[in-house]
Amino acid sequence: MWHGSPNSIAALLRCQVPHALQRKCKRCGKLALRGQVHCTMHAGRWSPNPDRAGRAESRKLAAMERAGLLPFDLLALPVWRNLNGIPTAQRAPTRLVLVLAWDKRQVAPLHWAKVQRQALDLATKQPGKKYNTAHWYENI
Ligand SMILES: [Zn+2]
Repeated sequence: MWHGSPNSIAALLRCQVPHALQRKCKRCGKLALRGQVHCTMHAGRWSPNPDRAGRAESRKLAAMERAGLLPFDLLALPVWRNLNGIPTAQRAPTRLVLVLAWDKRQVAPLHWAKVQRQALDLATKQPGKKYNTAHWYENI
């Protein structure tokens, strides 16, 4: 007997469990994970304070790269390249400051020099193995 395509919406709805009947977290009452008695938070898979530091700056750099605003002269400098492999939380904000200071280096050379010094210090202070998580345009 033909019951229709197993991929149809009707087939999906037939298997749907009403919210009231779904398994809830024992601690907070939110929907529980599949095969577990706790929700995503209380199963320990979710952190209330995820490490998102530097991600906004990293996205800003990506947008600038797409817009063609990252100068190759800057990307080739050791001060930029030395930041390779440093965690995003420190790398992305420093590189964003570098881009902005590079833009004004003719009118504010002292600020440009100070930003360069800070970036070089950050690169030399970083101990241990470096994990390169940056995009290609940050690594040429
Ligand atoms: Zn819970």
